[in-house]
Amino acid sequence: MSKSDQEVKVYEKIPTKIMKNILFSILTFISLSIIAQNNTYWQQHVDYTMEIDMNVNNYQFNGKQKLVYTNNSPDDLKVVFYHLQFNAFQPGSEMDMRLQNIADPDSRMVNNIGTEENPIYESRISKLKPDEIGFQKIISLKQNGNPVKYEVIGTILKVTLNKTIQAGKKSIFDMEFLGQVPVHIRRSGRNNTNGVALSMAQWYPKLAEYDFEGWHANEYVAREFHGVWGDFDVTIHIDKRYTIGGTGYLQNPQEVGHGYEAQNKKLKLPDGNKLTWHFKAPGVHDFTWAADPEYIHDIKEVPNGATLHFLYKKDLDFQENWVKMQDQAVKTMQFYNKTIGDYPYNQYSIIQAGDGGMEYGMCTLINGGENYASLVGTMRHEMAHSWFQFVLASNESKHPWMDEGFASYVSTLASDRLKVKKSNEFIFDRVYKTYNYIVTSGKEEPLTTHADRYNTNMAYGIGSYYKGEIFLSQLGYVIGAENLKRTIKKYYTDFKFKHPNPNDIKRVAEQVSGLQLDWYLNEWTQTIHTIDYGVKSVSDKEITLNRLGQMPMPIDLTVTYMDGSTKNFYIPLQMMLGKKPTKAMVLPYWSWGNENFTLTTFKSIAKVEIDPTLLMADIDRTNNVWSK
Ligand SMILES: [Zn+2]
Repeated sequence: MSKSDQEVKVYEKIPTKIMKNILFSILTFISLSIIAQNNTYWQQHVDYTMEIDMNVNNYQFNGKQKLVYTNNSPDDLKVVFYHLQFNAFQPGSEMDMRLQNIADPDSRMVNNIGTEENPIYESRISKLKPDEIGFQKIISLKQNGNPVKYEVIGTILKVTLNKTIQAGKKSIFDMEFLGQVPVHIRRSGRNNTNGVALSMAQWYPKLAEYDFEGWHANEYVAREFHGVWGDFDVTIHIDKRYTIGGTGYLQNPQEVGHGYEAQNKKLKLPDGNKLTWHFKAPGVHDFTWAADPEYIHDIKEVPNGATLHFLYKKDLDFQENWVKMQDQAVKTMQFYNKTIGDYPYNQYSIIQAGDGGMEYGMCTLINGGENYASLVGTMRHEMAHSWFQFVLASNESKHPWMDEGFASYVSTLASDRLKVKKSNEFIFDRVYKTYNYIVTSGKEEPLTTHADRYNTNMAYGIGSYYKGEIFLSQLGYVIGAENLKRTIKKYYTDFKFKHPNPNDIKRVAEQVSGLQLDWYLNEWTQTIHTIDYGVKSVSDKEITLNRLGQMPMPIDLTVTYMDGSTKNFYIPLQMMLGKKPTKAMVLPYWSWGNENFTLTTFKSIAKVEIDPTLLMADIDRTNNVWSK
């Protein structure tokens, strides 16, 4: 029985939610203690206590923030950095300038002032008036009780410390700030296109992560998310008509109501126009919320799992889609629990807010829902991010393919398994075609590109989502389907509540399969080399295959003989120093330096096909099949 199996059993037996929360903290503590004993891996820790007072009329909020920052690194820190991401929504910001210069700007962030054929894009940020912009203004900042020197540089706050934080030591930061929620441009803001009043992502001064690579104080240009693991304690004072959904467990449901209260107990609502919402979120690296005076709040339980909260606007034409989707959300979470590993929190909220869909700690903000199928698809993708990003917290700025690609992979599996009508079509067909499209376009860039620095949004999107998804589907071809399933589970068990990097998924796959995979990580994610194998020639009983693309692969080959029988062959790739489990006849190794491989069969050949599974991302399949 593995450690994770023991954890699961205990988790299921806990009778009350409170006990579950306590247990979760203990488990987090245990896993962090294990990390602390492992001298090759360390991660920083921060505990947030925040209290904010929201003015729903002018969209401003006063905030107090206390951070207890633990420097688990082996380095002494003389500076720390925070993200002030609301500052991106100001004319002239780096986000604004990038929007004006990129060839294919996000359509949500621009107005087309030209025609459909000849579009002229205008940055919506460039048009924001002072009372419409976003900001986080620092009113005061202290380290261990003493005022400290700081500088605001775009969306980054650079703090020069009075007192070095020595390796292994803690420091306390107290901040007072004033925030203004921007007009909704991207991800967060006021009054989104569905009329949701407040989408509060990136709303608080957020400590940047420091890890084995150093500081990750990235400007907010388009993408984000590499946060410090910690516990959040957040108190929000807001107009009593507003319902809040978001990260964290509500600590005072009887003083709030809004669907969170226990039905068998009396509500104790305070007098006055505001309610105080007190949330705690242990073991997360972000805290997001949304609020609206017209939310409907439904609750569903995942059997032996988390409580799902659904918050969506009433009186919208597509309100029913938000109800119909709820059973699918339960099934999707069960599928991910089985496929990846148990969702470790007791709560997950699907909230109508934001734009498109975006993942956050213990919740997602999804806009729209007019199209039911796309609402379910978005929900599946965003929920998958609760594993690939919010528990396996890889650096999304540096390795977006590890969260977007992997979330896309498991959501494709979920869509296939949970489909009512089964079909025999290749489930990744659209994914491989889209990858082929970017290869053909000549606009592909390697997956090592920083998420904000791709030349086009298209190259970022297809690279991170599609090529990242193929990293896993194709890994199943390379190491075998069962080994891939075990790799995903072991990756989750070994790296939950950490910051896995690309080498970590490769190492897990190597450990599970016993195969060498450095070449796979290198070729697929660090180059734009492509795969193309072909049947070069066939004469009666002899087949010659050739490698035309730069990227090598092991080869699955199906041969049909003239008598109608078929035989499967497997040609292992020499640099893997082993073979995947297979029922096919195993042939000698094919080394990368050899462009050709010849085999002789016992019977006359009618047809030859390279990779009938289609899982190998061969960019030209026309030469994969030969028939007499
Ligand atoms: Zn995503």
